[in-house]
Amino acid sequence: MTKLYLAIPCYNEEEVLRDSAAKLAKKYSDMMAAGKISADSKIVFIDDGSKDRTWEIITQLHGENPVFQGIKLSRNRGHQNALLCGLMTLRNKADAVISIDADLQDDINVFDEMVEKYEAGCDVVYGVRSKRETDTFFKRFTAEAFYKILEKLGAKVIFNHADFRLMSKRALEAFSHYKETNIFLRGMVPLIGYKSDIVTYERSERLAGESKYPLKKMLALAWEGITSLSIQPIRLITWLGLIIFLISLIMIIYSIVRFFIGATVSGWASTLCSIWALGGLQLLAIGIIGEYIGKIYLESKRRPRFIVETFLED
Ligand code: UDP
Ligand code: MG
Repeated sequence: MTKLYLAIPCYNEEEVLRDSAAKLAKKYSDMMAAGKISADSKIVFIDDGSKDRTWEIITQLHGENPVFQGIKLSRNRGHQNALLCGLMTLRNKADAVISIDADLQDDINVFDEMVEKYEAGCDVVYGVRSKRETDTFFKRFTAEAFYKILEKLGAKVIFNHADFRLMSKRALEAFSHYKETNIFLRGMVPLIGYKSDIVTYERSERLAGESKYPLKKMLALAWEGITSLSIQPIRLITWLGLIIFLISLIMIIYSIVRFFIGATVSGWASTLCSIWALGGLQLLAIGIIGEYIGKIYLESKRRPRFIVETFLED
């Protein structure tokens, strides 16, 4: 039977925590009664340096019901770091860990399906939103555009998947070798490989309280996603530089011809040539330096170059 842990990052969630905990405990006892998960499965809250009563509530929950556990971070480090802390702390304790937000916008009834897929041999099971009706038009539009842009930039992301997913012990172990500090989990998990699958669900409204992801944090996350998964933006500079440099060649020929026809004021041809040629060359040079910086960047992440799935030996 699967020993299933939940990792739930919480930042100032005093308004939803009790409700969420009750729902999760009910779900867990149902799954345990049905023999789907083992009796020593746990629900773990990670307090990301909350300033309200969140930790107090977690401590109470832990006292009331041993299914609840808590991890407290020394200060607010943001959702991604809090989640990473949860996954890395729990990876040796569980067979599989599901990460989910404290506001239970993600459907806890797909836990069963996730566990079934895990038991059928999947190491990662992604929760994918089938509809975004409860999101505002703006959030839906920006989020979907973001996934598309990331894909264009060469990052492998699962469309409409946020951080609701199951990861097996083996996947978490592999993931622990990704030592980078700038993290964008949903873009990094697909890098691991192994067999994966998706489950779809409808995302609902936040139970209570307000979003801890205002536009500013969302944009920061999106930017983190792009810059930590792709060095394509640098390559765009190189291309731009090259194109402008080519245009400059045409401009140079053009102004020389104008010069010899005599249809110019003095100084025009040389000024025009230098503006275009120097501009293009500079951009190209920046792009080339950028290519090396991009390489240094990728090297500095020290990502594992391979992860062995199976070794048929003896
Ligand atoms: N969260 C966190 N640290 C932060 C901000 C958010 O741990 O600095 C948690 C938050 O408690 C919640 C999850 O991240 O469990 C997602 O936040 P939220 O539901 O507010 O985001 P939204 O669903 O609005 O995108
Ligand atoms: Mg939410």
